[in-house]
Amino acid sequence: MSDPAIPPTPRSLGNRIHTIAAPLPYRKPPWVNCYVIETNDGLVLIDCGADWEKGWGALLDGLHHLGFDDRPVTDLIVSHLHPDHVGMAPRVVAHWECRFVMHRVALKTIPTYNDTEATEAWMREFAANHGVPADLVPIVGSMGPRPDFMPLLSEPDRVVDEGDVIDLGGARGLEVLYTPGHDPAHICLRDTDTAILFSGDHVLPRISPVVMYSDIFPDVLSDYMNSLQLVKDLSIGLTYPAHGEIVAQGDLRAHQILLHHERRLREMVQRVERIDVTAWNLVLDLFRPNLAPQDQRLALLETVAHLDHLALKEEISEIDHDGVAWYTSRR
Ligand SMILES: [Zn+2]
Repeated sequence: MSDPAIPPTPRSLGNRIHTIAAPLPYRKPPWVNCYVIETNDGLVLIDCGADWEKGWGALLDGLHHLGFDDRPVTDLIVSHLHPDHVGMAPRVVAHWECRFVMHRVALKTIPTYNDTEATEAWMREFAANHGVPADLVPIVGSMGPRPDFMPLLSEPDRVVDEGDVIDLGGARGLEVLYTPGHDPAHICLRDTDTAILFSGDHVLPRISPVVMYSDIFPDVLSDYMNSLQLVKDLSIGLTYPAHGEIVAQGDLRAHQILLHHERRLREMVQRVERIDVTAWNLVLDLFRPNLAPQDQRLALLETVAHLDHLALKEEISEIDHDGVAWYTSRR
């Protein structure tokens, strides 16, 4: 059994597809799977990891190991706007002068990604509005200084939409599936030759990707569940995720994650029917104790995504009480 903390060595997966594990500057997840597709013009890279020396070194060593020293990266396609996927984009783009490709929604969300101070101020207010006690607000809402591994981003050179096909030459392409939820700009890519799905963080083998409340997109949980349904309806088979090992049946994994969210929603309705709650009450109730502040923040964002989804579907009500959102039964 391989050590889950040590990235696997770069390897070829067949069909001119290769994978390089780029270590990440935190424990969970420990690395991101960068996929490399050979084309007649060079290489297309899907996701690049966070911007730090270990990640950059792993990418260059990986390309060397695969025999690609002389092959330029022509395109960097990023599945979504999280630093473990897009962080190194400025360095990759500057090094190879390649195209930087993302979904169109990134044009709207990159300014927020770039503005750490505004994001932190927003997060503190959000925590207070959702019942986090005043003494914990600075802890749960604090993001600290902007980490070096997420430099500021420029706009993509090319934006793509659902159904676009990114040409790989020789009648092969990557079909864009727009799969918002984990991030509003999330895309999966389906290889038109092999039907393999590059799933980013949309469908992961072992964990259920976090779904975070957004103030720009009204019901991110619906977006996510619809995007999972899409993978299920397309009967997606072989799936190459951005973290963890290859998934044999993407459609089955999407179905499992859907069931997880349906269970969680039922659980929340039952709690709210018993007693009025804030989102913070449910974080303390439903998640394991002693979460690190970063995980408490994610748990709060995910819980509000679920509760707001239920309120929008009129299964529960949301009422404001002295600036704090309380969720109550409609019965
Ligand atoms: Zn990720």
